[in-house]
Amino acid sequence: MELRKSFQIEAAHRLTKVPPGHKCGRLHGHSFVIEVAVEGPLDPVMDWVMDYADIKAAFRPLYDQLDHNCLNDLPGLENPTSEKLARWIWERLKPVLPLLTEISIAETCTSRCIYRGE
Ligand SMILES: [Zn+2]
Repeated sequence: MELRKSFQIEAAHRLTKVPPGHKCGRLHGHSFVIEVAVEGPLDPVMDWVMDYADIKAAFRPLYDQLDHNCLNDLPGLENPTSEKLARWIWERLKPVLPLLTEISIAETCTSRCIYRGE
């Protein structure tokens, strides 16, 4: 079974490798929607895969680093594309959330990146 929990962060970024004049090279912000997916068996005692609150608690330190910040300022996110952000979150979340199977990053309503590990 799979559980999915969404988080929203407000964050600024600018992409540093785009050609001169590209709109993403200018500092701008997004209301990023980050979806965390976990997968595992149904716990026969609790009748759940895991507590949603534990997903939230695992994500909390990352939320605190990302929300209302400029992503470029974070080590490892010098060129903060959605792809890099998805991997950045995965690398930090997987050790504390072993059931993690997918990170989804939506920077707009129509643009979304999915990462499922290496
Ligand atoms: Zn952007």
